[in-house]
Amino acid sequence: MASDATILLETANFAAEKHRNQRRKDPEGTPYINHPIGVARILSYEGGVTDVEILQAALLHDTVEDTNTSIAELEAKFGPTVARIVKEVTDDKTLPKHERKRLQVEHAPHCSQQAKLVKLADKLYNLRDLNRCTPIGWTEERVQEYFVWASHVVKGLWGTNPALERKLEELFSQRGVRL
Ligand code: NDP
Ligand code: ZN
Repeated sequence: MASDATILLETANFAAEKHRNQRRKDPEGTPYINHPIGVARILSYEGGVTDVEILQAALLHDTVEDTNTSIAELEAKFGPTVARIVKEVTDDKTLPKHERKRLQVEHAPHCSQQAKLVKLADKLYNLRDLNRCTPIGWTEERVQEYFVWASHVVKGLWGTNPALERKLEELFSQRGVRL
């Protein structure tokens, strides 16, 4: 049987190949893969999560939404649990953006604990990224709106990981956003 280290490196390598040509929205155009690696690191290092399948799902969480990866491909390569967690955190891109945003808020409380953890870490990473620098073309109001929307999603994830929730709470309170 493969070791946890081998499995995680195999997964990180798969995600890196899939996101190979993508960049984040920050002015430096940071390689996209920094984000899924950072989300997995938040879960492990800050959230104390040791379940390898959750860490794998974090590494893969944007592959289906943002690259030519299917859930079936993830299932064949990484198994049904990892594929199901990624499916839970993937927006339906055939829907208009406003609807996708609304559904994230609506679905958050009904996700599995595993998917809630990935979502908490994803939001924490993105809010820190927005504090670090404003994406190209974004106004301060748009950044603030993102914090407000994220707070509605995070409210539905509450009670999942106190360490991550404390850090999110602090970021929201710095912006004057109440949960
Ligand atoms: P987007 O969904 O367009 O962008 C945010 C997403 O981009 C994040 O969730 C993250 O997703 C990804 N991302 C990539 N790079 C970065 C980065 N450096 N920092 C943070 N996130 C990054 O944003 P929204 O549509 O949610 O816009 C925010 C708010 O602004 C909304 O509430 C909306 O109503 C409003 N809005 C305003 C507009 C305007 O022109 N004023 C236009 C559109 C929306 P991932 O986890 O997948 O990486
Ligand atoms: Zn993400």
